[in-house]
Amino acid sequence: MKQYSVDERGYYGEFGGAYIPEILHKCVTDLEKAYLPIMESRQFQRDFNQLLHDYVGRPSPLYLSRQLSEHFGAKIYLKREDLNHTGAHKINNTIGQILIAREMGKTRIIAETGAGQHGVATATVCALMQMPCTVYMGETDVKRQQVNVKKMEMLGATVIPVTSGNMTLKDATNEAIRDWCSHPADTHYIIGSVVGPHPYPDLVARLQSVISKEIKVQLTEKEGRDFPDYLIACVGGGSNAAGTIYEYLDNDKVKIILAEAGGKGIDSGESAATIHLGTKGVLHGCKTLLMQTEDGQITEPYSISAGLDYPGIGPMHANLAVQNRAQVVDVNDDEALKAAFELTRNEGIIPALESAHALAALEKVKFKPEDIVVLTLSGRGDKDLDTYFKYEGQY
Ligand SMILES: *Cc1c(COP(=O)(O)O)cnc(C)c1O
Repeated sequence: MKQYSVDERGYYGEFGGAYIPEILHKCVTDLEKAYLPIMESRQFQRDFNQLLHDYVGRPSPLYLSRQLSEHFGAKIYLKREDLNHTGAHKINNTIGQILIAREMGKTRIIAETGAGQHGVATATVCALMQMPCTVYMGETDVKRQQVNVKKMEMLGATVIPVTSGNMTLKDATNEAIRDWCSHPADTHYIIGSVVGPHPYPDLVARLQSVISKEIKVQLTEKEGRDFPDYLIACVGGGSNAAGTIYEYLDNDKVKIILAEAGGKGIDSGESAATIHLGTKGVLHGCKTLLMQTEDGQITEPYSISAGLDYPGIGPMHANLAVQNRAQVVDVNDDEALKAAFELTRNEGIIPALESAHALAALEKVKFKPEDIVVLTLSGRGDKDLDTYFKYEGQY
């Protein structure tokens, strides 16, 4: 049988690993030794589950969308991560990681952020746990995402604008890694997706796996069986998708559809379709598929959705794609916008632009009437209102 989860060396097939500077070796090895015993401990399980329930508001509902079901001719459920505290799935990961950091005796938290969603989720749990928090954010993103910057500051975090490179997510990540190299003893770096050196992709996937654990219980109640025919999620780094598929990786009856950002079209030179366009390389400590030039310079990614414009992809998803376990579809800006306006008008749910990419993927699959589909709505659209207002009336 093919293996889709991480192996003991920290690889998913040929992807993954830990390509890190010597100075971080101890931090990363300490985390690698600690994360599973901590996560399996009774105390972690109790604290994590209680916070997910009482603070985040889990379990998130599994909502049968009548309108999508009629339109696409299958039974389509939405997994409502948009209803979580702070508005997306990211809080599942930050709560888990801060509990692990505390258990490891760390007293300071750092994070990178692009659009600011992971930064806000990190600043939130740092306020909750009373830990100092520094968030690195590209200067371009700081200017674009003023509300999230103000939110992080209101929550007590220090936001450091990064002025290297294109001043976006990749550069913020570089700067966070640099900070970690200077403070390896007291600092935990909360990475926001299933990327980075081993054990991060596995750690984040396990923390997000609460999504698929809940889907199993909820489908059993609603459908009398614990698996769907299709799972659909968008991929930036891949954490909401990883959480959605985690419990189903080895169940061949469940088809996996991943939606990546096609931007203005995958041949336009302006996209973030990493799996379609990427080649093998190492970024931020991990071997994966990357958008890069022939001589290894990272190509700037583009998507209308700030949460999807990462030039890499988690090693788990790179492997699922090359093994043909997952089907990867590219969704362009205009297709995502159309899907977002339709869900808003027909269901009264304004989705995040990232999640709208998963919704638009429904157009690209041929369903049978008896198919059961679960699509993860990774976040709500509040942060994207300016973009939506700009296109109001056009879709
Ligand atoms: C950050 C974000 C994403 C993309 O990140 P993944 O790690 O791929 O899940 C998707 N949706 C929302 C709402 C986000 O905030």
